[in-house]
Amino acid sequence: MSQVFHNFVAMNLNLENIELFKQLLAQPQKVVILSHTNPDGDAIGSSLAVAEVLRGHGHTVHCILPNKFPYYLKWMPNTDELIIHSNDKLGIAQSVIAAADIVICADMSSLSRLEALTETIAQNTTAKRILIDHHLNPSSEFDLVFSSPESSSTAYLVYEILKAAYGKEVFNQNIATLLYVGMITDTGNFAFSTINPELFRAAADLLETGIDVPTIYNNVYNSFTEGRARLFGYVINRKMKTLLKGTVAYMSLTEEEMRKFWFQQGDSEGFVNYPLSIKKVKMSAMFSEQQGGFIRVSLRSHGSVDVNTFARRYFNGGGHHNAAGGKSFMNMEDTIAHYIAAVEEYHKEGLV
Ligand code: 5GP
Ligand code: MN
Repeated sequence: MSQVFHNFVAMNLNLENIELFKQLLAQPQKVVILSHTNPDGDAIGSSLAVAEVLRGHGHTVHCILPNKFPYYLKWMPNTDELIIHSNDKLGIAQSVIAAADIVICADMSSLSRLEALTETIAQNTTAKRILIDHHLNPSSEFDLVFSSPESSSTAYLVYEILKAAYGKEVFNQNIATLLYVGMITDTGNFAFSTINPELFRAAADLLETGIDVPTIYNNVYNSFTEGRARLFGYVINRKMKTLLKGTVAYMSLTEEEMRKFWFQQGDSEGFVNYPLSIKKVKMSAMFSEQQGGFIRVSLRSHGSVDVNTFARRYFNGGGHHNAAGGKSFMNMEDTIAHYIAAVEEYHKEGLV
């Protein structure tokens, strides 16, 4: 059976919103672009692409991330300009937010994903708020909302918005590289069920700028440290456990284990996907201890298993149908016990 693809751009990217976007940005504005904690290729690529285009149209733009991004994304164009709030001893983030006319949040559905910056945005600025995002359940905290949960990445949505507002000519090689990274990192290099023909048309437009796809691929997927490779081997061999006759997997990583493998921020990104390469496995979880005394929860699934609902229900989180996350404030042992009980409950309801 062939898959039916919806032309979701026509449905969700209404031209009224594009007109509002252009009106808000008709005169030179002070713009701040923010994205989510533990930023990924989509968060960084989308933010920096919007920044570069708006700068080209006379705006003053700053990009802020709540915390550090993975070292293997440092090569992406313009990452030097990113203001990392957790390292921001001079308070630059606070002052550019206070001075902003417009705040754009990319690749996140609620201000709470900004963690320590949430209050600053909620209280220290009267700037207009624009949301550009592809997560489910966008919050009502924004003045202008581009929300497309059907979109495989925020980068794809950014591509459509920028194309509709300014025309394809704005995509130079840097912007195309940034958007391409967002598209591949959120779709497993164009492999997840979220892809559609429009995404490939968008990618074709980006390729026409002359971007170097094999180099981008190697930069994203083959640029890790030896420590990361060894940590990965350890986690799969020693820490992966299964439940429900091998159909549900989970893994955990403590700070002590991370230290042993010279852990750098980002080293365990993607580990959660690996158990899904086992044919029987339809849901996978990764628990990793974080500075600040909580456990980060990452969830992935195949097909009908809904980890967005699971993350909301059991780990105070959210995300997408097949990729979600949350937090636990219990210790590792209790977190895992909570997960096992949650999986059993989910199973009894026929949800996994
Ligand atoms: P990851 O496992 O890569 O951290 O996150 C997977 C997906 O879940 C991403 O789309 C991310 O935005 C979402 N996500 C991760 N952690 C949280 C969280 O604590 N709260 C919410 N609402 N979403 C999360
Ligand atoms: Mn995304």
